[in-house]
Amino acid sequence: MLSAALEAYLAFDGTGRVVAWNPAAETTFGYTHDQAYGRSVEDLIVPPESREAGQAELAALAAGRSGHTQGQRRQWLAWHADGHRIPIEMTLATTDEAGGRLFHVFAHDITTAHRASRFAAAEAAVARGLAEADSVGTAAQRVVDALGLKMNWPVTELWMIDEDRQLLVCAARHSQPGWRLRTFAVNTLEPGVALPGRVCADAAPHWIPDLSADTGSLRSRAGARIGLHVAVGVPVCTGRHLLGALCVYGDRVEDPEDTLLGLLSGLAAQIGQYLERRRAEELTVELARTKDEFLAMVTHELRNPLAAIAGTASLLTEELDDLTPDEQRHYLRIITRNAERLGVMAEDLLDLARLESGHLAINPTASDLSEIIRQALQAAPDKNLTVTAILPERLELYADPIRLRQVADNLISNAIKYTPSGGSVTITATADAGGDKITWTVADTGIGIPAAERPRLFRRFYRASTAVDRRIPGTGLGLVITRAIIERHQGTINLADDAGSGTTFVVELPVKPSITSPGS
Ligand code: ADP
Repeated sequence: MLSAALEAYLAFDGTGRVVAWNPAAETTFGYTHDQAYGRSVEDLIVPPESREAGQAELAALAAGRSGHTQGQRRQWLAWHADGHRIPIEMTLATTDEAGGRLFHVFAHDITTAHRASRFAAAEAAVARGLAEADSVGTAAQRVVDALGLKMNWPVTELWMIDEDRQLLVCAARHSQPGWRLRTFAVNTLEPGVALPGRVCADAAPHWIPDLSADTGSLRSRAGARIGLHVAVGVPVCTGRHLLGALCVYGDRVEDPEDTLLGLLSGLAAQIGQYLERRRAEELTVELARTKDEFLAMVTHELRNPLAAIAGTASLLTEELDDLTPDEQRHYLRIITRNAERLGVMAEDLLDLARLESGHLAINPTASDLSEIIRQALQAAPDKNLTVTAILPERLELYADPIRLRQVADNLISNAIKYTPSGGSVTITATADAGGDKITWTVADTGIGIPAAERPRLFRRFYRASTAVDRRIPGTGLGLVITRAIIERHQGTINLADDAGSGTTFVVELPVKPSITSPGS
């Protein structure tokens, strides 16, 4: 009966020597019958921290005061042969035999029940944390704290994708007391790097069973050095949009892979929903702010050229007869320049509206970028600058020449506008060796854009402090449209990370993009 029982059964005598050990005890505690027989039950299954209490209890039982343990089920953490603790439920009974008193233990492993209640507690704690948080930052911290505490994981992290910076940023981290994370505690990661990077790159869960064997990853090795062993990460999404990764690191495998992934994926979905709600709220605020910014911009940027036109025109009307032809031409140029400024702004605003409604049309044809840039340079405003263009005779690509001219006008006029007299502007464009891609740079030695502000540069109405401080007029619309046009050509635009002063924009365009017009 005892060999067939699913319940672990073991017995020991008054000195604590094991005298019976059934097959279920072998699976539960990890020792075979032969390994266990005759050894001290305390050494085998009682973890060091419970030994004192255990001895007192046994002494009481041995002394014949059959106490509360008999006939009662109790829960207890036992020691497994591999060193980990297993929650068990057990009953203890004594019998008096010819050789003395015997102690009989019936026990079963309650890990699954324990896990279920732990998971439920973790889920409840996360839900509470999200409900009480007043910002995304506090929500992230509450989630990882709740998870780390309830699940007893040494390290729990929530990583978010920062699209502006093309990086992964650690939004929150929880580590258990006593863990010194050293080089493991990085706060940004390149895409694709380490567990969070891999989870985001594949938008799928990842499981690293042995960090020390994951030799390809510096961070896994750093984790292994501080005593972490396993790692699990799941993607955090809203609908089909990937936001980041929830990652936990453990010092040993406690739960089966699929159960853990199930729990984490459920939590990640909760976090995703929360973030989506917050994003909708933030979008509403942003829309209101954009409206304010738009009104401020319109008042500023429309009023100035209009005032210049009105003032000059009335001056011309009143004093036409007294002005020399040269003076008349000068005033007329002021009117033309300001009218053009208004025209550009109206076009930009229309383009912005088209962009937002998804109707920014691209009509590609065989084009010559060198020619487009040369024409833009001819039309560029005059200023005391050294303007150099290093261009091949022809640079052919399939693109919308009118839209590319708009890009050239914007980048070149910005370079001129934001470079004080005496500086220089250099434009280069070349095709790569394979002839598939064109790299086009517009560099200036001007006022520059502070590194910290660069991520925001391509947002609507955004103007760098360097421009605002110097009161250089502008709307913060040109670059948004420029980037949209380049992206519609399947190209990219970025700022070069040069440490020197000035600004360099780098545009990369495929020679033969497969462009579809929005209407098609
Ligand atoms: P605008 O020039 O009308 O303000 P843009 O969208 O073209 O709008 O540019 C946005 C902001 O980027 C500018 O306000 C300026 O702060 C910054 N910027 C763009 N190009 C340059 C440049 N070449 N040098 C310095 N700052 C620049």
